[in-house]
Amino acid sequence: MSTKDKIERFRGGQKLITNNRARSGVELGLGIKKPVRSISGVTPLTVVLAPKKCSHGTCIYCPGGEHVPQSYTDKSPAIMRAMKLKYDPYEQVKVRLNVLKLMKHPTDKIEIIILGGTFLQYPKNYKYNFIKKIFDALNNKDSKNLEEAKKINEKAKHRCVAMCIENRPDNCADKDIKEMLKFGCTRVEIGVQMPDDELYRKTNRGHNVQDVVEATERLKNAGFKLGYHIMPGLPGSDKEKDLKLFKKIFKDEKFRPDQLKIYPCQIIEDSPLAKTYKLIKYTPYNEKETKEILIKMMKIIPDYCRVMRMMREFPKEKLIKGTEKLDLRKDIEEEFRNKGLKIREIRMREIGFNKKTLDLNAKIKIIEYQASNGKEYFLEFINKEDILFGLLRLRIFDKTAIIRELHVYGQALNLGEEGAESQHIGLGKKLMQKAEEIAKENGFNKLKIISGVGVREYYKKLGYKLDDDRVYMIKKL
Ligand code: SF4
Repeated sequence: MSTKDKIERFRGGQKLITNNRARSGVELGLGIKKPVRSISGVTPLTVVLAPKKCSHGTCIYCPGGEHVPQSYTDKSPAIMRAMKLKYDPYEQVKVRLNVLKLMKHPTDKIEIIILGGTFLQYPKNYKYNFIKKIFDALNNKDSKNLEEAKKINEKAKHRCVAMCIENRPDNCADKDIKEMLKFGCTRVEIGVQMPDDELYRKTNRGHNVQDVVEATERLKNAGFKLGYHIMPGLPGSDKEKDLKLFKKIFKDEKFRPDQLKIYPCQIIEDSPLAKTYKLIKYTPYNEKETKEILIKMMKIIPDYCRVMRMMREFPKEKLIKGTEKLDLRKDIEEEFRNKGLKIREIRMREIGFNKKTLDLNAKIKIIEYQASNGKEYFLEFINKEDILFGLLRLRIFDKTAIIRELHVYGQALNLGEEGAESQHIGLGKKLMQKAEEIAKENGFNKLKIISGVGVREYYKKLGYKLDDDRVYMIKKL
């Protein structure tokens, strides 16, 4: 960092660095209007895999497998839709695009979310064909192969700007990572539940904590945005243990994910737990206990992490025991706001989830933290009240500087559409410039970025080029 940069101590031993120029506030410009229907800038579209059991067996709490996609029930709306279409990815994308259009959602920037099991364990042909068909449907054009489909999508009407794959920590070897990069994946979610070998054994996870640690480092080094699935209340755990392990996830630099989905354990029909819970005398947390633990967890989550979801939405008729209230998050957040409690987690600070009149003067703040044998720079565009307009994640390790995420918040607008949302007033460009400055100050003459296929054109305009492997966008600094 330049000597002009001022370094202030920040919570939890992190450093908050405020650049002098940024400190005076970068004007966002007049006329930003609050998003009417904010969805963080992109429109998600889920595509469900055909049923296939996970190769290690079944985790104790997990329904599905043989005839229903693993970890889902045949009464889940997304699964019922996919079933009707025989799990054909092309048809699923086509149908969803039409529905989204009818609902007046923008469909030019799509995040593809692949769910229903462990995708990386499917046969090679199935995987490549699955992804190719998704791109073909977005492109409205058949292609010869995946590479051609991706190329067409760079300028297509419906661009895949991000892709998320759910995965297991023990399916993140170098070859798996190469494959995910080839598919155009930008975000990986792994099931961590609670990082404890004894709990893994009791719940038949089939991997250990070391797998989580290694997967975390490899995925971050590859530039993926990384999400953990967290499950408090597992058989063999209790509130004290859960909280201790949850704290460890952020205290210990070997973990520190970018995102979380927190799904307290429930007993669901067709899961092994449904058959054994009486025998092992297991009771999941009740509503009060669930709320209590979630509140405590939320208070621990640092600025750089976003809680994507809380509570799994299993259909009520499939729930044998557990919390029925699925919108607990709303109550919890309301409670935080009423009490004026400052929660650092990203989503609560996003422009789209804050209703009050906004102060539009924002500046870039930089949080530095160590993670998985590398250094992370978390850049955020915020105003005085901590409302978040955009963020960037830069990782530096060994001889590499890589941007893992660039995200500008606001309502999703169609590409090229006039609008005064934060997405369209150059915040992304300013964040990129700052990241390039930091990379240079750290002695790098090259910066790479993991890019959704549909965002390559944007980075080209900023001087980035697709690398020889056709995976990352790279710029000489
Ligand atoms: S790894 Fe995930 S999908 Fe597979 S059995 Fe376990 S919870 Fe279910």
